[in-house]
Amino acid sequence: MTQSDYTALWRNTRFFQSVGQLHQLPTTGVEVAFAGRSNAGKSSTLNRLCGQKALARTSRTPGRTQLINLFDWADNARLADLPGYGFAKAPQAVRRQWADLVQGYFVKHPPLRAVVVIMDARRPLTELDQQMVEWASAGGLPVLCLLNKADKLGRGAAMNALLQARKELASLNLPNVQAELFSAQTGLNVDSVRRIIGDWLTAAPA
Ligand code: GDP
Repeated sequence: MTQSDYTALWRNTRFFQSVGQLHQLPTTGVEVAFAGRSNAGKSSTLNRLCGQKALARTSRTPGRTQLINLFDWADNARLADLPGYGFAKAPQAVRRQWADLVQGYFVKHPPLRAVVVIMDARRPLTELDQQMVEWASAGGLPVLCLLNKADKLGRGAAMNALLQARKELASLNLPNVQAELFSAQTGLNVDSVRRIIGDWLTAAPA
């Protein structure tokens, strides 16, 4: 596929449905999931990739029902926006519910092909980010870590953050994990990220 084919698919992405339980998810097709600490910019990243202002929205209420929001990217190819994590005030029961939902999703959902973890480039790979990468990887999935808000760092500092994150990821000894700088605000690396994820969504079934 050419870059403009990919761009058109991203731009035509539409909201499909929200589900609160794994058995409600479609069982066919392919999916790529987006995870991230709350406020890292997951909604902004999805909106930037799709070239749309308000496709994905942030839920700022920790007590709310935890939902997976699905978007149709192409026929039988979906994006899944996972509930954000790391709310300091989330009750224990909500955190447990979140962990069960996300871990179950990573290991028991055949359409899932890869996981994108959105992080803040100023403090990447927090404990929960690392846990997310490890869970996804344990499910045998490739992981793309996006160090978002790179615009908040100077060029040198952003590059240092990337190299440091890659070093930390390498020390985890996981197969198929990569990291890139990103900015939902400026669009830094938007085309290369569209391509990486687009390749996952269009790959022939294994
Ligand atoms: P979410 O909770 O992960 O979905 O985060 P949001 O997408 O709602 O973003 C949280 C805050 O970070 C908002 O105020 C965004 O405007 C801001 N933000 C998101 N991405 C970027 C970015 O790349 N650069 C900058 N400077 N701000 C960003």
